[in-house]
Amino acid sequence: RNNAIGFIGLGQMGFKMANNLYRKSGAPFVLYDLNAPVIDKFIELQQTSSLAEIRIAKTPKEVAQAASVVITMLPNSPHVEEVYLGEEGLVHAVDKDNLLIDSSTIDQSVAKSVAEAIIAKGARAIDAPVSGGIVGAEAATLTFMVGAPTTEDFDRAQPILSQMGKNIIHCGKSGSGQTAKICNNMLLAISMIGVSETMNLGRKLGMDPKLLANILNSSTGRCWSSDTYNPVPGILPNVPSSNDYKGGFATKLMAKDLRLAVNAANDTQSTILLGTVAQQLYNQLSETPGFKDKDFSSIYQWLNLNKDD
Ligand code: NAD
Repeated sequence: RNNAIGFIGLGQMGFKMANNLYRKSGAPFVLYDLNAPVIDKFIELQQTSSLAEIRIAKTPKEVAQAASVVITMLPNSPHVEEVYLGEEGLVHAVDKDNLLIDSSTIDQSVAKSVAEAIIAKGARAIDAPVSGGIVGAEAATLTFMVGAPTTEDFDRAQPILSQMGKNIIHCGKSGSGQTAKICNNMLLAISMIGVSETMNLGRKLGMDPKLLANILNSSTGRCWSSDTYNPVPGILPNVPSSNDYKGGFATKLMAKDLRLAVNAANDTQSTILLGTVAQQLYNQLSETPGFKDKDFSSIYQWLNLNKDD
């Protein structure tokens, strides 16, 4: 096993995160994804350099057998449960050497229960969801929100996570990373809807969108959705809105995160008026034909759906 690192889930985020970690750590890698072509693509990308060995595993269990540290970056709670606790899951191969880091955004209760199952086997497990989007994943500037039972667990994960991110924050015990993450994403959804409505209104009033974005970005309306991830095509390069809303963070995943936030608000009787509206909007958006897999900034395009201008 030595110093090998396992990575499970090479999607929009995982692929870029794994690429940074592989190149910076110099460690041998063990990869697993249900979608085999993404692994071939990853290996192809590395072929110009003579870095450490990459192995392809057939099951999550094989990954834990071959690598002491395993990172997972999967869509949602059921996928994490399957990879951790399923028939061929990680739990069946872990021992005291393993540290499992789940960076997916999932239900806090699932994050706690999978960590408990792993810890019961003598291994260590933490939740470490991320913020920063595909731009942050590519540039290794992600924020990691870490739920780790002990500071020793956090200290062990920190140097690994810092090869993929800039801010690594210990939020508290297992599941607390997920708490921070769903709070952030509720705010992100609200701000993206706000920026989309604002840009749309300005455009309809005859304002040049680039000029309006410049003004917002040096005024009090400035936020990540306006200055780093603007939803209007052509304002920023290298963001999904300038690439037909391809890549990025799918509307169905944002709808999932908002569901997690609404559930958490119900459990704690917290008032979330805008959060509830945001959930309804992203549910509708992800159910609109053609929008499910588009980036969540496509809410801007959706506002004008079936309108001629
Ligand atoms: P994605 O759907 O692009 O990637 C998920 C990957 O997991 C895919 O390659 C898929 O084949 C693989 N997968 C699914 N089930 C599997 C299983 N059982 N075993 C092995 N592999 C499996 O998703 P993403 O956009 O990379 O997001 C991953 C997570 O990160 C989500 O929880 C999301 O909410 C969160 N997140 C995404 C972004 C973003 O901008 N995309 C930003 C922050 C956080």
